[in-house]
Amino acid sequence: MMKKEIEKIGVFTSGGDAPGMNAAIRAVVRTAFHHRKEVFGIRRGYRGMIEGEFQKMGPRSVSNIIQRGGTILKTARSEEFFTKEGREKAYQSLKSHSIDALAAIGGDGTFRGALEFFEEFGIPAVGVPATIDNDLYGTDFTIGFDTAVNTALQSVDRIRDTAQSHDRIFLVEVMGRQAGFIGLAVGVSGGAEHILIPETKSDLDALCEEVRSWARKQKGSRIIIVSEGDELGGAAEIGRKIAEKMGIDYRVCVLGHTQRGGAPTAQDRILASLLGSVAVEALLDGETNVMVGEASRKVVRTPLRETWEKKKAIDERIVQLCGVLSG
Ligand code: ATP
Repeated sequence: MMKKEIEKIGVFTSGGDAPGMNAAIRAVVRTAFHHRKEVFGIRRGYRGMIEGEFQKMGPRSVSNIIQRGGTILKTARSEEFFTKEGREKAYQSLKSHSIDALAAIGGDGTFRGALEFFEEFGIPAVGVPATIDNDLYGTDFTIGFDTAVNTALQSVDRIRDTAQSHDRIFLVEVMGRQAGFIGLAVGVSGGAEHILIPETKSDLDALCEEVRSWARKQKGSRIIIVSEGDELGGAAEIGRKIAEKMGIDYRVCVLGHTQRGGAPTAQDRILASLLGSVAVEALLDGETNVMVGEASRKVVRTPLRETWEKKKAIDERIVQLCGVLSG
């Protein structure tokens, strides 16, 4: 069967914003232009797709955005897109603009939506992984992760100064409801004494024993990094639990949304430029329902379903290393 040539690509960002989304939009628009294809930006993700918020884009509409955090196309979560009626409306909107393929920049929810949409209406979609959480199978890193880690790290470095000066225990909470990639990376690069992430078993008694040992070892800074989704709770709750058992003084710092914003790092800009561009090439090759990613320095295409059905493993070596280096 002859495949239909793609002429108009719709690009959108969806789910949580991540630094580097703009660099990815730029890469999609300029690569499509390079191949003489038209691009429409869809504002506010699936919500804008349903409501017909489209804007024609060309190389100049993505000038001066590579360095900006957030997303110029805005992002949203859409309850309506979970319904068949909502997706039908989105299809009619796309049809009325003759958009025949989608570059979907976001996380697993965005990809679930894209797959469901393809299965019902046959609009080819390629996913570009952009989420600070790095929790997608099929790519070593997601766009936004490196920036979020570096932003959190700057805060941890500052907290270390005050922790060291007061010999005080600090619990620093980082993002990661389901995944500890940010927690682990911030913990090892920030020289944390202990890291609590959802992927490893957290034991309050063992943690208290370790905290006691820090006084014996005369450790100055005593930083515990807590992923928000740890089984023992968030940083405030864990601090309370430790204090109840040991009666110690401690401080909590929740980094929260500061981790989402800011200019993307060079690494995120490069990854976004590469993956935005190869997403367009994949669509033009007739590919659909895949996410483009980079694994072991090679561009790879992974079926969308696998990106959430398979679990990306955390790096056990780094987990072990933190235990050794916290000495
Ligand atoms: P992040 O990882 O940063 O949260 P995400 O892409 O996973 O990003 P979600 O909020 O999970 O973000 O999903 C974005 C949107 O995708 C949802 O608001 C919804 O409109 C659509 N979506 C998610 N799952 C489905 C699904 N199973 N069917 C249809 N649409 C879906």
